[in-house]
Amino acid sequence: MLAVGIGNLSFALLMAAYVGGTTPTPGLRTWMWARMVFGTTQLLAWARPDSGMTALAVIESAGWTAGLALELAAYSTFFGYPQLRRHLIPLAGLGLLLACASPMAGLADPQLMAAVSTAMGAGSFLVGAVLLHPRLPGATPLQRLIGANDLVFGGALALWGVLEMLDAAPAHWLQALAYIAGYMLLIVNGFGFLLMSKERDDARMERLATTDDLTGLLNRRAFFARADASRMLALRQGQPIALLMLDIDHFKQINDRFGHATGDEALLKFSTTCSAALRGHDILGRLGGEEFALVLPGTDLAGAQGAAERLREAVMETRLLTCGNRYTMTVSIGLVVIDPEEDLPSALARADHALYQAKHAGRNRVAAGTDLRRASGQSGTTRTVSADSG
Ligand code: GH3
Ligand code: MG
Ligand code: MG
Repeated sequence: MLAVGIGNLSFALLMAAYVGGTTPTPGLRTWMWARMVFGTTQLLAWARPDSGMTALAVIESAGWTAGLALELAAYSTFFGYPQLRRHLIPLAGLGLLLACASPMAGLADPQLMAAVSTAMGAGSFLVGAVLLHPRLPGATPLQRLIGANDLVFGGALALWGVLEMLDAAPAHWLQALAYIAGYMLLIVNGFGFLLMSKERDDARMERLATTDDLTGLLNRRAFFARADASRMLALRQGQPIALLMLDIDHFKQINDRFGHATGDEALLKFSTTCSAALRGHDILGRLGGEEFALVLPGTDLAGAQGAAERLREAVMETRLLTCGNRYTMTVSIGLVVIDPEEDLPSALARADHALYQAKHAGRNRVAAGTDLRRASGQSGTTRTVSADSG
């Protein structure tokens, strides 16, 4: 108990230093307080048997109850259910009340401890069951490991408590199992909660680094990385792959006539409209401003032209609410099929050139660049394959 108590207090101190210097993951601060309360309570549990003071047993039970409530609060906050904390406060209050009232009701120390063990075990078992639940959204192997440990510890502790309350002299192995699982709980959950927080922070950082803030699409850097990986895969598999550059027409006018908020709405509408019209493995990214790029794996020239036409028409049908539906947004698209011998920047330059031709030919249209081999003979040749008066 002394070792576990010192361990928990060390974790709490480590955590206090850590959360002091950062914006902690939700739940981490509460979890630090749970370690602090558990550590102190464990030191008390280690010292108490020699003291013979009943009041200490009450304080110890209160410590276990408060620690468990804090730990459950930390988990529920971490997993995005902070509202559950409201239910934990009355539960913890009830636990404290029972702990204080039990000596008056003539309950002996061992019985009080057995009741507290049962409640603690049940709580821990519950956390374990939730973490191991097959339908827990986005559960990681780390969360499963913590869950398994909670389940074993909780089960052993609760069973031990029940047997003790029934005066059925619990088997030594059960007590040993509860202690071993409790010790592992300190290590696995101690590092585990930290690692879970780190896992979550890493995922958040990754999202921030690869996503465009306004539209939620891939940003420029992430688009290039994904598009290049897709290009190399298509090359290995001998599949065609198309690249499209899309630029909203007269976008500056939208900003100038209706304001920046309408401009932002147009960008968002544009990206949701395109995303809805695409297949799951198509790669759409915002290169900057009102310029977007799209990679269509497994798509040849005819397929890409069909897809571009569909996008162009879908964009024309969108309406902007913030300007009272008074504006018809249009887009110009330049497309190429990436040549097996060319790299992504060269394909982008060709698609950009085709886009320029589409703009030059009157906007709201799709233009296809000639393939690389012919283009190298007749530089810059582009065919405009659709037109609309807009
Ligand atoms: P074109 O038909 O030739 O493409 O003309 P355009 O007006 O669409 O192109 P231009 O490059 O002249 O204007 C782009 C405008 O996009 C200018 C810039 O202020 C605006 N813009 C860039 N990023 C954002 C943004 O995030 N939000 C808003 N509202 N406007 C943006
Ligand atoms: Mg534009
Ligand atoms: Mg532009």
